[in-house]
Amino acid sequence: MSRVVVVGAGVIGLWCALELRNRGADVTVLDKEWPGAGCSSGNAGWIAPSLSGPLPGPGLRSRALRWALLPTSPLHISLRADGALLRWLWQFWRRCNERDYARGLDAIARLHADSQSLYAAAHEEGLQFELHRAGLLLLFLSRSAYRHARDDLARLTAYGYEHPRELDRRAVREVEPAAGPEVTGGILAKTDWHVRPESLVSALVDRLTAHGVAVRSGAEVRAFEAAGARAIACRTSVGRVPFDHCVIAAGVWSAPLLRQVGYELPLEAGKGYSITLSPAPFRVARPLYLAEAKVACTPFRGALRAAGTMELSGFNTRLDRRRVRAMDRAIARFLPAWRPHPGRHEWAGMRPVTPDGLPAIGRVPGFDNLFVATGHAMLGVSLAPATARGVSRLLAGEQAQAPGLAAFDPARFCRGARRGRSHGADLARTHPAAPRSGDGTGGYG
Ligand SMILES: Cc1cc2nc3c(=O)[nH]c(=O)nc-3n(C[C@H](O)[C@H](O)[C@H](O)COP(=O)(O)OP(=O)(O)OC[C@H]3O[C@@H](n4cnc5c(N)ncnc54)[C@H](O)[C@@H]3O)c2cc1C
Repeated sequence: MSRVVVVGAGVIGLWCALELRNRGADVTVLDKEWPGAGCSSGNAGWIAPSLSGPLPGPGLRSRALRWALLPTSPLHISLRADGALLRWLWQFWRRCNERDYARGLDAIARLHADSQSLYAAAHEEGLQFELHRAGLLLLFLSRSAYRHARDDLARLTAYGYEHPRELDRRAVREVEPAAGPEVTGGILAKTDWHVRPESLVSALVDRLTAHGVAVRSGAEVRAFEAAGARAIACRTSVGRVPFDHCVIAAGVWSAPLLRQVGYELPLEAGKGYSITLSPAPFRVARPLYLAEAKVACTPFRGALRAAGTMELSGFNTRLDRRRVRAMDRAIARFLPAWRPHPGRHEWAGMRPVTPDGLPAIGRVPGFDNLFVATGHAMLGVSLAPATARGVSRLLAGEQAQAPGLAAFDPARFCRGARRGRSHGADLARTHPAAPRSGDGTGGYG
């Protein structure tokens, strides 16, 4: 039986571990903190094919310029003198066009179809997590935002998703009485589901443990040992762990790990915030996307969570009070009942974001048995099961690159130079965790 180490117990690593275990592998999951400690607990929990468009989009260039430097806007960039950030921004900027957007949307929409059916199957097979199939209501203050979203959603009907229902001001309030008078229109998409992310993480850990998978907290991977094109073990804070295969699913921390084995994955931390009110002070019937604010508002059993903002400010989970207040104000324009609340929990997490807005799923260039699954940005929960299915197929050697995963091949970021096997052959020694200056928690930005 093949020994597999999965680095990272976020939603991606845990799903990968489950798929691999189901295929008979002897799996160990290592996390430097604990399951869900990264980005996979406080998020909005949406499984949302309706939002399959990648982050760089045709209309973003002009808006991003206006927003980027404003500390209270939904997207904020803290510019720093860092070549990696500037290169990342340049690559991102180049992808803000219709052709790349359409290609990205196509790849993500296809992956979504697999993900939803895998979620349904896991739930039916008894994986105990909070899953709701309530759809998604997009709310708009302006007609221009409404038209833009309507055109975008219309593209998804090509993938078999039901045509969403367009709602005028009055119809919105019939469907969602909590919507305030400033809301001028809405779009109701039936396709989308949501989970309580914390319940998903704990269900996955319980299932893995029951199936004999060791999920080890406080086990930080610090170095890899390799011989030629094969990695053979990782050195961790709790000792050496040998493996036959390894999957790096360490979220935004995947980039410094991959750098050790000679692969530069362009990955930025897209910090987002969530505010959870528990118990929920008012009821909303289904998840709401507050379009101009770019905030997701999700009802869970006994709680209401608002999640949003995209802040490129390096490796940190600091809560900027100005941005939290701006988020509160923006939400109240859509939902006037959103007020200060005693049972309020604020959280920040770092989304792993690539410059083309697509995840990196596949073999690490230069290695036969080292895989990466990260870069899911705003869609890690949504795409986790399909990602895991793809990784497990690759690892089992079924395909060199699974057809549905071609767009996500990590090698797309290797221009010429160190692509292919050659640099793996140089690695007949240990690769220590020697992050360059500016890497790692607190130092990246
Ligand atoms: C505000 C907000 C709202 C969001 N809403 C949604 C949503 O509605 N739907 C959706 O699909 N997605 C959403 N996302 C995105 C989603 O949360 C992420 O895409 C997803 O959680 C990423 O999961 P991951 O497993 O890749 O990374 P993480 O959850 O960050 O997990 C990585 C793990 O790796 C561990 N690790 C790191 N380095 C090492 C090391 N060296 N050794 C061992 N372990 C290590 C970390 O401790 C961590 O536990 C949202 C994100 C934010 C911020």
